[in-house]
Amino acid sequence: MTEQSPDPKIHVAPPERAPSPVPVDDEVLPFEVGSLDLRGRLTRLGPALDDILTKHDYPAPVGKLLGEAIVLTTLLGSQLKFDGRFILQTQTDGPVSFLIVDFQSPDRIRAYARFDKSRLAEGQDSAALLGRGHLAMTIDQGADMKRYQGLVALEGGDLEDAAHEYFLRSEQIPTKVRIAVGEEWRGGEGPKHRWRAGGMLLQFLPKAAARAQRDLHPGDAPEGAAVNEVPEDDAWVEGQSLISTVEDIELIDPDLSGERLLYRLFHERGVRVFAPQSMRAKCSCSREAVSTMLSNFEANDRAEMVKDGKVVVTCEFCSSVYEFTPAEAGVE
Ligand SMILES: [Zn+2]
Repeated sequence: MTEQSPDPKIHVAPPERAPSPVPVDDEVLPFEVGSLDLRGRLTRLGPALDDILTKHDYPAPVGKLLGEAIVLTTLLGSQLKFDGRFILQTQTDGPVSFLIVDFQSPDRIRAYARFDKSRLAEGQDSAALLGRGHLAMTIDQGADMKRYQGLVALEGGDLEDAAHEYFLRSEQIPTKVRIAVGEEWRGGEGPKHRWRAGGMLLQFLPKAAARAQRDLHPGDAPEGAAVNEVPEDDAWVEGQSLISTVEDIELIDPDLSGERLLYRLFHERGVRVFAPQSMRAKCSCSREAVSTMLSNFEANDRAEMVKDGKVVVTCEFCSSVYEFTPAEAGVE
């Protein structure tokens, strides 16, 4: 028996799956709008995001910014087709001077941010928290493979802006990204406050490569040199206008399934969804790894780590605390 799609316009054929009528959290859902040569990914994050952000007890604007970085990482990292890691980092001069999201395929995410509490002020948005600096994206496929790193300047914009800049300069794939992070307040039993997030990546990938090409800014070309303007392809114009209608609340809404949202946007053109990838909050730290890290310090540095008769190491990613006796930490 084949499963029937509740929406006849969402086509279902292997390796795609039947659209879920109920919302599913902590998943990345790949999709395709074939008639417009669009491919995309939709991320909905609930418990995994809440787990990461709650462990740190960040001030809300910092949590929101780190949540945005986590959403962007799931959209990009879930594209890895091999075992490996995708690491997104920012280094900037704003109140949040450093943040890192570490995605390990197929599904593990961990993240943390460093910030200067004294520089946090009312009304700062994510762009203001970041300030200026750069965003680095690293793909690491293990010891035998070359690391790939893409760098993009952060010049007073937010992570959506940085992603657009990256795809324009480095990948030269027409791309739009939407990211939304919110806090949900509940009554009744259980936690009152939860973080939720959603994001969408949309790319124009026509079979005829020439249709995707746009000339970059002439840069150092002599002044007055003719700029070869290529009009944007109609399909991509339509794709951009559709994704621009997505509201933050739709990306976050716990009662709206990913498929419903995609159908809302693309039903006139037909949209296909593929097998989703689940995401979970999971750190890779361990007592053994921390012990090995300690053994790599000089003996006198180790001795200086002894406080109140023990060495205490806290994992920056997940806030796990590891305690060692001086002897275990290799202190004479
Ligand atoms: Zn950890």
